Amino acid sequence: MAGLLVATLAFFVVAVLWAAHSADKEAAVIARQQLQTSIEQRLDSMTQTLSDIAAGTNNFARPEPETDAARFADRTQGLFEALYVTTAAPGAALIRASENIDTAAFEPERLGVEQIARAAAGRIPGPPAKLVHLDDVTVAVVAALIPGRRDDPLIVIGAKRLDAAALVRFAKAPRLDGLRLETSAPADMDTAYPLTDATGAPKAWLVWDGDRPGEAMIRRFLPFSVVGAFLMFGLFVLIVHHVRRITIELSSTQERAQRMIGRDPLSGLPNRFLFGERLDQELSRIQRTGEGLAVLFLDLDRFKEVNDTYGHQAGDALIVAVAERLGELLRTPDTLARFGGDEFAIIQTQVGNMADAETLARRILDTVTRPFEIAGTSVSVGISIGVAMGPENGRDRDTLMRLADTALYQAKSEGRNRYSFFASQMDETIRLRKVVEDDLRDAILSDRLTLHYQPIYSADGESIVGAEALVRWNHPKQGMIPPSRFVALAEERGLIIPLGEWVLRRACEDGKRWPGLRIAVNVSAIQFRHRDFVTSVMRAVARTGFEPSRLELELTEGVVVEDADAAEAAMMELRALGVHLALDDFGTGYSSLIYLRRFAFDKIKIDRSFLESMEATGESAILVHSIVHLGRALGLTVTAEGVETREQHRFLQALGCHQLQGYLFSKPIPADEMDRLVGVMPASSAA
Ligand SMILES: [Mg+2]
Repeated sequence: MAGLLVATLAFFVVAVLWAAHSADKEAAVIARQQLQTSIEQRLDSMTQTLSDIAAGTNNFARPEPETDAARFADRTQGLFEALYVTTAAPGAALIRASENIDTAAFEPERLGVEQIARAAAGRIPGPPAKLVHLDDVTVAVVAALIPGRRDDPLIVIGAKRLDAAALVRFAKAPRLDGLRLETSAPADMDTAYPLTDATGAPKAWLVWDGDRPGEAMIRRFLPFSVVGAFLMFGLFVLIVHHVRRITIELSSTQERAQRMIGRDPLSGLPNRFLFGERLDQELSRIQRTGEGLAVLFLDLDRFKEVNDTYGHQAGDALIVAVAERLGELLRTPDTLARFGGDEFAIIQTQVGNMADAETLARRILDTVTRPFEIAGTSVSVGISIGVAMGPENGRDRDTLMRLADTALYQAKSEGRNRYSFFASQMDETIRLRKVVEDDLRDAILSDRLTLHYQPIYSADGESIVGAEALVRWNHPKQGMIPPSRFVALAEERGLIIPLGEWVLRRACEDGKRWPGLRIAVNVSAIQFRHRDFVTSVMRAVARTGFEPSRLELELTEGVVVEDADAAEAAMMELRALGVHLALDDFGTGYSSLIYLRRFAFDKIKIDRSFLESMEATGESAILVHSIVHLGRALGLTVTAEGVETREQHRFLQALGCHQLQGYLFSKPIPADEMDRLVGVMPASSAA
């Protein structure tokens, strides 16, 4: 690259110099031609003058050298300093016509007069005039023919001495600045015009200050070319620097990419893939050494809150900070990985027993639960840890990772911010729980849930007065899943609203086929407290065309305890619609008389647990007795749940309990069985 630059610059410089030199040469040639032309013109002019004088003297039949020479001397007085007359014949005598200045300079032999004379007579080629330089003077020598002698023509020769100043005036031409005479050979022959003696040997030089356009061009061009060269050099340096930087960047990117393979980009920790590989290596190692290891799965609690409250950047900063703290707890052979989101995992090596893993888990809890300084504020998070031990719980990667995940799930469902070791019974329960969790939303949305109805009978057990709707989930793989298994989960996962709405709507739809029966629907506390609950009830009855007066909502005490005012307002609205309200599971909670008096319930349902234990303990019987009387005293309908025996029936009937519900009369049944029981056409054939 640098070589290329130097070569380019060198080529450029040489080209410029060559162009300048050529221009200078050409200028010198032109100047010399001008000088030559100028000299020739002056010599011509002298020759012409001499010729004119010669013609003017031709008044004689035959001019003779002696007489003419004398006359010429008069005519050319002042024009020439020496005059000679001769004939063109070789060896002819030379007659000196004028001897104004008698110096050695005018010795005809040294001036080459004979050659000029013969040239003037046309006997030899060449001009009849020339400049001859003698010792320290230049002499212009010209010759002209004197007309009148055809056979043996007479020739007149004039010589004029030119000193240096006169010579310069003589030769002067435009563009020949500083023209001067030099007697030693000049260094630059391009701007020198040689003056020779009669034999043609150079004796002196007319020298001028050559017009050097090339040099001038370079002089003018030089600053620009210097600046240009600097710019070019700068550009070159820039390009080199840039290329170098890109190269370095490329290689470092490559290096980083190499390093980041198998790494989580945010924390720089190994990712799930690399973690798996390390676990494989560690497992094969412990097979040889007989050591143990622990796989810990970690999940931050409340990470989403941090993200939502402080933004994703804060969330990222938190992840990095957690990764740092975790890293400090581990020994070199251990592996800390991030699986994404708020999930981390650890391979703890050289584990002797569970206590070692437990110690680490405790330290992790202590460390991570200390507040973090994130985005200028103190942020606290919790962490749940699931631990699986190798080789006790498993000898392969997949098993250990799955079991650690199961244990983590257990830790989270036990209330978070704790650790949990995998235990074998955990697996099945949690697996099921996960399945339920994964599929519930889909089941609600795609109508795969179903409602069963448990009829409610009059106190004599003779007639059906209503039915309680109970949701069922027939899972394609798990079979029938009871509500106790998924309703709480729906609450946890924010699915209780869609689930509740679905149940309400379906119960109203089904209930329309059973005129005169009151349909009871269980409402969870979360569902009831939702601000749109009353609206959703109104929507359900309006859409299905079900009479609100036949709808009964079963609420638990939990509904009214938390926000009594809001609950009261909602209940008033519902009652205004004509909807009935029952207090479910009465006797298990606060069972406060105040609630019963304040809130506008129509009914209380005695919890089944009282009836279950009634026969065993006399106390329960007394309580049931009291509840029935209390309800009746407040003007409420009293329903007993869980009636299973005739004795219970008789007892409750005797107490004055209004309604009965339980296996003695009917278990919960599908809607079509309900159709048969009530004596209406099943929905499918009626449609
Ligand atoms: Mg109930």
